[in-house]
Amino acid sequence: MRTSKPNTLTIAGSDSGGGAGIQADLKTFRARGTHGLTAITAVTSQNTRGVSAVHTLPLAHVRSQLDAVFDDFPIAAVKTGMLGSAAMTRLVAAEMRRRKPAWLVVDPVMLATSGARLLDEDALDALIGRLIPLADVLTPNLPEAETLLGRPLGRDIDAAGADLLALGAQGVLLKGGHAKGREIVDRYYDAGGVIEIRHPRLPFEGHGSGCTLASAVAAELAKGKSPHAAVRIAVAWLDKAFQRAWRPGGGAAHVLGH
Ligand code: PLP
Repeated sequence: MRTSKPNTLTIAGSDSGGGAGIQADLKTFRARGTHGLTAITAVTSQNTRGVSAVHTLPLAHVRSQLDAVFDDFPIAAVKTGMLGSAAMTRLVAAEMRRRKPAWLVVDPVMLATSGARLLDEDALDALIGRLIPLADVLTPNLPEAETLLGRPLGRDIDAAGADLLALGAQGVLLKGGHAKGREIVDRYYDAGGVIEIRHPRLPFEGHGSGCTLASAVAAELAKGKSPHAAVRIAVAWLDKAFQRAWRPGGGAAHVLGH
């Protein structure tokens, strides 16, 4: 019997350790019932201890991957992750502007948990000026939100949420994992206001959790869920993946049980 699933595309970097990036995205797409397509922007040499090298792919080859997938597949949703450079960010923004996917989830990846830089500092202008205004859902963590706003978030988190929304995405999922406390509070902002999603904190950092969450949101949007529903389902599913996490290598990083 033939079955069909919506196609979802990730434009992101490869993690040789299999925990984050393209590898996390594909596992998530499969787990959430979509067919995953990839356009790889960069290849990292990485394990549970950290990132030892980054090779950014030639722009022409990223463009040809996009041509290959868009020319053949109906694509229900796109997710962007590690973009590496300003030129790559401009290319991806121009391609998204031209191709107008039904849903675009932008994960503004900047640093790995290990501290490795995954986006050049001079790429911030292109991210803010060109890509984020095209996003349906932007998924910053707290440090990324501070970088995007160019200021500390301060006590009034909803004012920060409003300022992030003013960057031009239709919705902003501000992930609370980097705050302190037993509970994680994620907040989703859109024109209708804010919803809070509270969930328990586990005593370790899940490597690739940002990639996994953004891909799960994209998959749910691809299946026809509203942004609110997609965000709630994705956060609840990420919690389960955290509960099944384990350490596959010698370092501290846990991979999630997708
Ligand atoms: N490596 C790649 C290729 C990524 O795209 C990302 C995250 O977006 C990471 C590493 C960072 O993963 P983490 O911060 O969860 O360790």
